[in-house]
Amino acid sequence: MGGSVKPVPRHELVHEDGRRVFVYGAVRASSSLARRGAETGLGGIHKRFDLLTEEWVAISPARNVRPLDTAAPRDDEEGCPVCPGGIELPFPYEAAVFENRFPSFVAEPPLPPPGDLTAPSCGRCELVIYTSRHDTCFGRLAPVELGRLLAIWSDRSRELWADERHEFVMIFENRGAEAGATLSHPHGQIYAFDHLPPITAAKAEAHRRYRTQKALCLGCDLVRRESGSVRVVAPNDSFVVGLPFASRWPYEVAVRARRHGLSRLADLTPGEQLDLASALRDVTLRYDALFGLECPYLMVAQEAPRSQPDWHLAFEFFPFQRSRTTTKIRASVETATGLFLNDVLPEDAARRLAKLEVSAAPIGEDCLFVVQPAADSRISQRMEARS
Ligand SMILES: [Zn+2]
Ligand SMILES: [Zn+2]
Repeated sequence: MGGSVKPVPRHELVHEDGRRVFVYGAVRASSSLARRGAETGLGGIHKRFDLLTEEWVAISPARNVRPLDTAAPRDDEEGCPVCPGGIELPFPYEAAVFENRFPSFVAEPPLPPPGDLTAPSCGRCELVIYTSRHDTCFGRLAPVELGRLLAIWSDRSRELWADERHEFVMIFENRGAEAGATLSHPHGQIYAFDHLPPITAAKAEAHRRYRTQKALCLGCDLVRRESGSVRVVAPNDSFVVGLPFASRWPYEVAVRARRHGLSRLADLTPGEQLDLASALRDVTLRYDALFGLECPYLMVAQEAPRSQPDWHLAFEFFPFQRSRTTTKIRASVETATGLFLNDVLPEDAARRLAKLEVSAAPIGEDCLFVVQPAADSRISQRMEARS
């Protein structure tokens, strides 16, 4: 099967303001990143330590005045900053990744305000543009676009984990304005953190304790508990697709690797790539079918933190809908205490999702890709300004 994996060339460009841009697939030699709109939002980003919760908070004042939020009177290809020809990608492309103009974390952060409770916001914030087509979404990507996206995720993940300053790398998608997306063009994001975020740290500790106290892999045990349960939503050879036993969100779904040793995207075999693409697409199509709308959701890849041999790669989905007309809001109790209140029995939610009929074009071996730096990579080095 491995012989059918096709290379996708990756071209590295640099915006006038220094931000990195990766263009995947064919790129026109004359591609140029113009100077217009080159102002960025680095001003004042830093972290603050909360003495009460002993957690870091990322402060990014410029994000609140993002022009994408306020100066986008129209939400079509003409007004889209990431469509081909837009301010971020002013040339034809197939798929692209670039550093966020208004990041929470950057590789070379400014000095934080002085004091013993502040730190620089070191890390990365990237946008992943799934396709040049504006009017589609993750679940409706063509099979080859989905396969290519998985290869792009693996490529970015591998590079960001290779930077030892990064303690955690998280690929995710906020779908819909309700989920915080400021662009309607199909896209996701990647954050690299210089510390383990609190929930990840708790999971990592749980894995270590499980190993010490029970001599078991927590990931394997979760797969064993979940795979035969009534909370399974769809069959899949490589992943358990179902509602977690203690779901926090009414229709939360986890897509968890069955195989011990599959702990990051870079570990995926070709067959597992196809199974993962099918599973993720299937979950989003079920959400849309269940609620009869483009269901806003959060989709998050959970890759193994450093030194976590027992971790099974998982994708978590947190949809906002409780029903077609009502959404879940993290209100007082959940926001102030961290205790979630879920008003849907996970077993019922699973039954509703499982009985839906969803169909999509099969994802075959022609959808297997691996990213390779283009021979002319860093083509361009710093592209000429045209403004
Ligand atoms: Zn667009
Ligand atoms: Zn395991």
